[in-house]
Amino acid sequence: MIKANNPNIVSWVAVPEDSDFPIQNLPLGVFKTDQLETRVGMRIGDYILDLKTLHVLGYLDNLPYNIAAFDSHSLNLLMKKGKLSARRLRDRVSDLLNKENTELQNNQHHVEQVLILESSAQVLMPIEIGDYTDFYSSKEHATNVGTMFRDPNNALLPNWLYIPVGYHGRSSSVIPSGQAIHRPKGQTKPNEDQGPVFGPSKMIDFELEMAFVTFDGKPLGDTISTAEAEDYIFGLVLFNDWSARDIQKWEYVPLGPFLAKNFASSISSWIVSLDALQPYGVDTPSQSPEVLDYLKFDGHKSYDINLQVAITPDASQETIVCNSNFKYMYWNMAQQLAHHTINGCNIRGGDLLGSGTISGPTPDSYGSMLELAWKGTKPVPMTDGTERKFIQDGDTVTMRGFCKNDKIRIGFGEVASKLLPSK
Ligand code: MN
Repeated sequence: MIKANNPNIVSWVAVPEDSDFPIQNLPLGVFKTDQLETRVGMRIGDYILDLKTLHVLGYLDNLPYNIAAFDSHSLNLLMKKGKLSARRLRDRVSDLLNKENTELQNNQHHVEQVLILESSAQVLMPIEIGDYTDFYSSKEHATNVGTMFRDPNNALLPNWLYIPVGYHGRSSSVIPSGQAIHRPKGQTKPNEDQGPVFGPSKMIDFELEMAFVTFDGKPLGDTISTAEAEDYIFGLVLFNDWSARDIQKWEYVPLGPFLAKNFASSISSWIVSLDALQPYGVDTPSQSPEVLDYLKFDGHKSYDINLQVAITPDASQETIVCNSNFKYMYWNMAQQLAHHTINGCNIRGGDLLGSGTISGPTPDSYGSMLELAWKGTKPVPMTDGTERKFIQDGDTVTMRGFCKNDKIRIGFGEVASKLLPSK
């Protein structure tokens, strides 16, 4: 077992009940405050542990990281040291924050320097993303979209059950939680018998996804097997892959997603390590027909992560519009990575691989407004009396995710972003 996952460890740092960030989580992120310039930290409860200062004070001496890994505006340098180093770092911090260990706990002067209230910090984009890939791995989502846009009797294209379908997205517009976006403009074709028009999109949607961040992969030409995949996965974030459905409908045939998808994708701030998720491993849905050999795998490759989406209109209260789960995904991350590299395509540290919209089997578990309001035919009621077919100006979309077993709950915090009117 991974040492830091021990459910019996209790921290001397007070962690509120039902916090996403008990000592068994310890996700990494990047932050700054009015006094401290940008640096790397680990989240515990309502605090951020300042890893740069912790290193300066000598608490991280026997690890393979120099100060530069923590004195940085991203986690990329830290990720260069790979999986086992990241595991040692998490184990060491777990030791330092364990109430059985007095090493840091009893040095009040040091404690005051390294523990920063999260509410007093600005949490920033945690990684410099190299390449961003988005999969399309939820069978329910692909079936729903195929039913609406093509043919209910042949909702899944013939390749879907054989290939973890994906496309290359754009990393420049991946933004951190809290950053508002403007409604994009573009070409749409609202009337079948008339030409396209230009203007603000009228069908802005969220896509409930999770995304994983990679360590450096293998050289160009080599492949990563499903058995090796987890060695190359650093951790996961919540991922809102903003989409403009009317732009998408007009532009995506025959080439696939472009301007309907690349105006913004929002990620949560704290990268939860794949290590921390191990206690929540579950089977993926059974796959039939049998997949090709390079996509076969052993063991638990999916995770029981409860997911939720809320919409909060301007100056109003939130409405939960979706409850889903990461475990519904048909294709798992190991298969996605194996497929991504099977042609020799190389993965680099800091790449971001999105799951695709995660929809569950029931209508309240659909991961997009397109599905929840079924192409606008079933508007979703809001607690303030209004209704939504898609996202309106002033709405904030918030996604949350957490895992819980009989002992410990860990979570991802949230990714929240507000939609502003077109520029
Ligand atoms: Mn997507």
